Amino acid sequence: MKNLSTRRTFFKTLATSGLVFSGMAGFAPFASSETEKKMKHWDVIVVGGGPGGVPAAVAASRNDAKVLLIEKYGFLGGMATSALVHPYMKYNAGDQIIIRGLFEEFVDILLANGAILDDRKHFDAEPMKWLLDRFVLDSGVQLLLHAQAIGVLKKGKSIQGVRVFHKGGVEDLSADIFIDATGDGDLAAWGGARVEIGREKDHGFQPMTLSFRMAHVDVNRMPDGKEINRLYDQAKAKGEVKNPRENVLKFKSVHPDVIHFNTTRVVGKSALDGWEMTDAEVEGRRQVDDMVRFLKKYIAGFENAYLMKMGAQIGVRESRRIMGEYVLTAEDVLSARHFDDGIACASYDIDIHNPAGSGTEIIRLKEGTYYQIPYRCLITAEIENLIIASRCISATHEAHSSLRVQPIVWAIGQAGGTAAALAIQKKIKPGDLDAKELRHRLVEQKAFI
Ligand SMILES: Cc1cc2nc3c(=O)[nH]c(=O)nc-3n(C[C@H](O)[C@H](O)[C@H](O)COP(=O)(O)OP(=O)(O)OC[C@H]3O[C@@H](n4cnc5c(N)ncnc54)[C@H](O)[C@@H]3O)c2cc1C
Repeated sequence: MKNLSTRRTFFKTLATSGLVFSGMAGFAPFASSETEKKMKHWDVIVVGGGPGGVPAAVAASRNDAKVLLIEKYGFLGGMATSALVHPYMKYNAGDQIIIRGLFEEFVDILLANGAILDDRKHFDAEPMKWLLDRFVLDSGVQLLLHAQAIGVLKKGKSIQGVRVFHKGGVEDLSADIFIDATGDGDLAAWGGARVEIGREKDHGFQPMTLSFRMAHVDVNRMPDGKEINRLYDQAKAKGEVKNPRENVLKFKSVHPDVIHFNTTRVVGKSALDGWEMTDAEVEGRRQVDDMVRFLKKYIAGFENAYLMKMGAQIGVRESRRIMGEYVLTAEDVLSARHFDDGIACASYDIDIHNPAGSGTEIIRLKEGTYYQIPYRCLITAEIENLIIASRCISATHEAHSSLRVQPIVWAIGQAGGTAAALAIQKKIKPGDLDAKELRHRLVEQKAFI
């Protein structure tokens, strides 16, 4: 197994303060008692402004915590805005909507601003950016954009500070509770939590996809999916398209003449290493080039279409999974298991894009059923003031493939942020929080449990 989670990590202890820096190599490791005194302080710091981090920050702030949200890009939204991931996947079980709360509130905002179709699934990532700004700022969250967390300062089992890098320099920022919403579990890994990568048999993880959109498509002349796939197979056989994906995956968009493609596939590249990400981005763009040429040459309706947009980064489905107090399994998902400490509900299928090449494995939940995610999946034994609130919560590779979709991550985020604020109010560790009370507060705030 590649040990990418720790390969570029190192430690430095200073006897004077007891603070241990753990993070990316190459950055000044020093932390002293002076550092501790100088750090700006919040009740809760959330790192990562995606579908997990946004609701986590909003929920914590609306529950009276003083919150800082840190994001490495210049905008919020995570994969939705940076990698053009779209649409919102399933958040109903039969006739029942099972993800409400902040997710539902934000979808209402998108709808009111013409940024999502009436189906409440296909959205526009551009207005989403400023709508997310307003959503977090109006909830009282302080925002730090263009700032990348590069390590944590830990004392005993607690994170004292997060070290961030931005154009203004390197800063250490402190909080009582940290929320890891990086998708990759950066804080948790740096803080010494147990980490797993990929499936059990060979640690293969889901491939990446660079999404893109074609505009000016004559949609009325487009053939059906079967015919597109026949022509795709033919172009692959001729060597005109080199892409391990088995078929062409496309979606409509909010614009009638724009088609969204989630159909490139880059296998075996880790999101935890800049060199591998570079290879992935270059290969993703090469595949987009192949696909654009293929569409314009062979698919009716695309003759005059043009490449409107690619994700600013390639989409990452899976990197680290942080092992917490409970590990959610495929059996929990498929048996629609409920838990006494369930804090979010989910009904999306097990959906594994082949880590090794062609093919996608889908195992469906029984229609109308849903499983729950226990609060224990957000808590680690190794770090007592950290909550995980993104796709990397404690789950097996298979269970992760279901819970990773955006609406579910929104529900996890709301739960994580609410838990942080409750723990602050009670002056207790997140792991000591009474899950009944957390569930009660979530229901009061319109979440579906
Ligand atoms: C190709 C692809 C297709 C998908 N298709 C769908 C779909 O159709 N529908 C659906 O609902 N879901 C889909 N998903 C899943 C979904 O997009 C993700 O699982 C979801 O976005 C995870 O949310 P997150 O908040 O955990 O992580 P992310 O969305 O990755 O957000 C993490 C945020 O943290 C920031 N960050 C990371 N590290 C740091 C750091 N060290 N310092 C500061 N900031 C940091 C990132 O910039 C990012 O903004 C897809 C995913 C991919 C990759």
